[in-house]
Amino acid sequence: MRILLIEDDPSVAAGVVDALETPSTTVQHARDATTGLAAAASFAPDLVLLDLGLPDRDGLEVCRELRGRGATPIIVLSARGEEADRVIALELGADDYLTKPFGMRELQARIRALLRRTTASPGATEGVRAVGPLEIDPRARRVTLAGEELHFTPTEFDLLLYLADDAGAVLRRPDILRDVWKTEWYGASKTLDAHVAAIRRKLGDPDWIRSVRGVGFRLDAPR
Ligand code: CA
Repeated sequence: MRILLIEDDPSVAAGVVDALETPSTTVQHARDATTGLAAAASFAPDLVLLDLGLPDRDGLEVCRELRGRGATPIIVLSARGEEADRVIALELGADDYLTKPFGMRELQARIRALLRRTTASPGATEGVRAVGPLEIDPRARRVTLAGEELHFTPTEFDLLLYLADDAGAVLRRPDILRDVWKTEWYGASKTLDAHVAAIRRKLGDPDWIRSVRGVGFRLDAPR
């Protein structure tokens, strides 16, 4: 596995590299946004860890640019604990968010959970799900709406597939967080909202995913 770490703080970087490097995992470290974006192209990482406070460019811009290039999972590491930053990062396509200081075990757990979600498991690759004009193909990880392909981040895709598996039913927040995010971390609830917002925007009609107050979400074709 290849992990790209974009982080200017040498002590944070050293800790992360130390914790994550194993015989089967290579960590490439970039100290600024420019080097990081170049490495994302040449190194072809399986996962990107991205600091938001970089010396040359705003990490949020880097996040947007990385997401524009492809579906590589992104975890944002940030000293900025603000809600707004977290939501913006997730809307720009980050898959998860860790606030500094974080423990290496927590980082490792989040990486494992994210890779579990985004690596196609053979058992979960049955046929195409269709909800009205929306078709979701888990094997190709491809979504079309009325025949037109739409692009989703790995986490958005997993959430959409999860909702589509029980289309028309209201799925409870804690169940979604447990099954899609593999977490019971309460803060992830905001992550869920940000991903729902992004999916609605891509589907072009907010009625695709209805919020049921205090309960959860339901996917269905808009009338
Ligand atoms: Ca920084």
